[in-house]
Amino acid sequence: MDWRTKLLNPDPQARRDYVSLATPVYRGSTVVFENQAAVNDGWDQAENGYSYGLYGTPTALELAARIAYLESAHRTLVVPGGQAAIALVYMAYCQAGSHALVPISAYGPNKEMAEGLMRGFNVEVEPYDPLIGAGISELIKDNTTLIWCESPGSVTMEIQDVPAIVKAAHTRGVSVALDNTYAAGVLFDAFAFNVDVSVQALTKYIGGHSDILLGSVSARDANAYKALGPVYRQLGLAVSPDDCSLALRGLQTLAVRLSQLEQSTLQVANWLSIHSSVDAVFHPALPSCPGHDHWKRDFTGSASVFSFEFKEHITAQQAISFIDSLTLFKIGLSWGGVTSLAVVYPDVDRPNKDYGGRLVRLNIGLEAADDLISDLDSAMQAFN
Ligand SMILES: *Cc1c(COP(=O)(O)O)cnc(C)c1O
Repeated sequence: MDWRTKLLNPDPQARRDYVSLATPVYRGSTVVFENQAAVNDGWDQAENGYSYGLYGTPTALELAARIAYLESAHRTLVVPGGQAAIALVYMAYCQAGSHALVPISAYGPNKEMAEGLMRGFNVEVEPYDPLIGAGISELIKDNTTLIWCESPGSVTMEIQDVPAIVKAAHTRGVSVALDNTYAAGVLFDAFAFNVDVSVQALTKYIGGHSDILLGSVSARDANAYKALGPVYRQLGLAVSPDDCSLALRGLQTLAVRLSQLEQSTLQVANWLSIHSSVDAVFHPALPSCPGHDHWKRDFTGSASVFSFEFKEHITAQQAISFIDSLTLFKIGLSWGGVTSLAVVYPDVDRPNKDYGGRLVRLNIGLEAADDLISDLDSAMQAFN
């Protein structure tokens, strides 16, 4: 054989019987079939065999299967980020003329999609009070096809009565999707509460180290899976096997990270809750968090992200100076990694409540909680 042909020979030269504890990173777009009859081009590789790398190599399918196992889902689709997961759910559950409901406290880009693409496609997405509970019935219309829940809400941390919303929705044949990112898919058992679709930004706790972007969309049953799959295919939501490999590694340490983060976060939140400059702490495990009783009833733990509001005598400018004078806390968005983060939200958009630039969100990392408290304490000295 010519050396040029030798260069392209795909047959392996090394033994293939290596057994590793780690899932291999399988790269590939083309799948090589045994024969013409075996050629298949479907999106559902878990059911029907590998077809094309766009729907995931074995690294992505391993991650999907492990998330499904953890969440007790029928199956999971892995997508390029949490926002892609949200987009997939909208596209799968809404058609022109549909009505959907989204909590006012939802992740900002979810609401942007509601007001942007969805409105353009003639889908009406109506915001609702996250604490509405069973009262959601009154907002359900004949053309309602999707109700979003996100609990706790982004930034303002309202814990929703998800069981009551699911009950009202299912009575009217409406599907419920939950953004379950805060719970890392484990602190709130979405499918035990009959949610139809559970999404996560794997970017946060599963990745856990601020170095990947991935999302998951988990289906409660075959119906939900069949609603999502064709849209997943049409949108071409391919993911990197390298990122999936890092997420698989993240899963292995999720339990120890979550329990350490829970403890440190509670320590910091409790310290803030009695500070003379702090009006209220919005941490799900504290009674000052709206919907705290739902957290007590439905969650098995708390995570690392929460917010607090400075007292009214602290100005918006002082809140900004406070953020700028922190040293251990880095200034940044996103959360769930090993580094503590702080950011002030100068214009949180909530009806009936003006935070006046005094709302701060913290993500607690794996630094010693006492050091983090000292950092906050020093930055607050400026208020005296
Ligand atoms: C971060 C986040 C997302 C989006 O995740 P990306 O991976 O950054 O796209 C979605 N929902 C919630 C609640 C989030 O915090």
